[in-house]
Amino acid sequence: MGLMNGKKGVVFGVANDHSLAWYIAKMLRTEGAEIAFNHLPGPKMERRVRMLAEPIGAEIIHPCDVTSDADINSFLRRVRDAYESIDFMIHAVAFANRNALINRFWQTTRDDFKQAMDISVYSLIAVCQKAFDMFNEGASILTLSYLGAAKFIPGYNVMGVCKAALEGTVRYLAADLGELRGARVNAISAGPCRTLSSAGIGGFDTILDHYPKKSPLHRNITSDEVGKAGLYLCSDLSSGVTGEVHYVDAGYNIVGW
Ligand code: NAD
Repeated sequence: MGLMNGKKGVVFGVANDHSLAWYIAKMLRTEGAEIAFNHLPGPKMERRVRMLAEPIGAEIIHPCDVTSDADINSFLRRVRDAYESIDFMIHAVAFANRNALINRFWQTTRDDFKQAMDISVYSLIAVCQKAFDMFNEGASILTLSYLGAAKFIPGYNVMGVCKAALEGTVRYLAADLGELRGARVNAISAGPCRTLSSAGIGGFDTILDHYPKKSPLHRNITSDEVGKAGLYLCSDLSSGVTGEVHYVDAGYNIVGW
């Protein structure tokens, strides 16, 4: 009997087989979940996601740019038609303009700031709003954060400010959706993993080198470990947990030197 048998949900944020969303999705599927996937509009992005999602039995693979309300509505309409209600939603979406990640933080432009906040933070509110009446009692909503939310990390720049806002958003959504739908909202704060997005962070290799030297486990995490924590947070094993930022970082966040 899989932990996710009979559960259905939505995964935002698979770009390729390195995506953290993909590692979580694989784990949920192995435990019996039915999953609908979005992809960024465009044939190349669609092909990449289909290549991964179809072999694991996904029937809904739909274009959705989270800056577009029309896209979110169209994707979730398809999900509603097929599933009626959902038990989990993974939000593993972030973006900042390259300039905002290579320049110094104080140079962040208004447009880059607004775009990064819209895609990386507001989109969580938007997808919760539009899926609101589909959440089953105990449904789990999960997003992805990073230590740059709480501490200064060189090169993380505007994305650190986005993650701080995202973690605040998790707490406020947890209060509203807990009261109104009995749904839970949590974040995994993951240690560094090589993905398409992390390749854009200035000094990412330095961060990867740093964790094995300083973290209590003296190593980096694997993306599989994010997948396993995702399974815990999406399944009934974590039924009493909401509003949390759960670190999966080999313990790095507790270290003060
Ligand atoms: P990734 O590049 O595989 O995933 C990012 C996803 O965001 C992609 O699928 C991309 O298509 C999607 N996206 C960007 N703009 C979008 C838009 N407008 N509409 C819809 N989707 C859009 O990289 P990842 O590292 O797996 O990132 C997933 C999440 O994990 C992000 O929130 C990231 O900040 C977070 N995270 C990553 C790490 C790491 O080291 N990789 C560490 C901590 C947190």
